Amino acid sequence: MVVPAFSSYPTASRLDELKHNVEAIRSRIAAACARVGRDPAEVRLLPVSKTVPIDRLRLAYAVGCREFGENKVQEAHHKAEATADLEEVRWAVIGHLQTNKAKYVARFASEFQALDSLRLAEALERRLQVEGRALDVFVQVNTSGEASKFGLPPEDVVGFVGKLSAYPALRVRGLMTLALLSGDPARVRPCFERLRRLRERLRQETSIGLEMNELSMGMSGDFELAVEEGATTVRVGQAIFGARTVPDSHYWPEASPRENAS
Ligand SMILES: *Cc1c(COP(=O)(O)O)cnc(C)c1O
Repeated sequence: MVVPAFSSYPTASRLDELKHNVEAIRSRIAAACARVGRDPAEVRLLPVSKTVPIDRLRLAYAVGCREFGENKVQEAHHKAEATADLEEVRWAVIGHLQTNKAKYVARFASEFQALDSLRLAEALERRLQVEGRALDVFVQVNTSGEASKFGLPPEDVVGFVGKLSAYPALRVRGLMTLALLSGDPARVRPCFERLRRLRERLRQETSIGLEMNELSMGMSGDFELAVEEGATTVRVGQAIFGARTVPDSHYWPEASPRENAS
């Protein structure tokens, strides 16, 4: 399989360009499903709109996008307010969250994908109770073994998930991961396999695990591999909206330099 160079995504700034990109990704998802006998309806495409300005978000809405993923809560909150006139939009916060910012997520987000500490679970629960809301959450797992990545080490996940039943406002949907950022499928795929096997273990070893069906994995450069390995949500930004100029180190602060596809 050919993995595109990370910088090769042209900017989509017109309606027809966005439509084309979304359709192209959906058909690549369908093709990946077909390779492994999955139903494409099982796979949710979550458009990731970080750094994308409001006018292009509105175009994405016009081509049918009804949910958006944002790495940083302030940016998500700002965009949610700026598009409050659009009906039925869901916001997913998918990046690391400091405990003192839990209140913002509790206010407007439908979904939080980077849960990785009980302190944060507790802060979210408290703020959600105040708001009278519930939140879909994903437990983030560090499947790549890179010290710089956020997320729990795989061996800690079963114990962690077992404790989440203490937080009724958190609806624990599944697991999320960022794979190794590499152009080499042989190194990326094991990260996705690891997440899937972890979900199987959770189903067997925890009561809450039975409701954890979701695997959020796969981004612009690797979503087809993720779908082949069982992803139920793929988080795709650049392949829809175009390459970002903000480096990923802004979102994964201590990330080691990305390996290049060869
Ligand atoms: C930005 C981001 C993505 C999407 O990455 P792309 O390369 O734009 O597809 C996925 N997950 C997280 C956590 C992100 O921050």
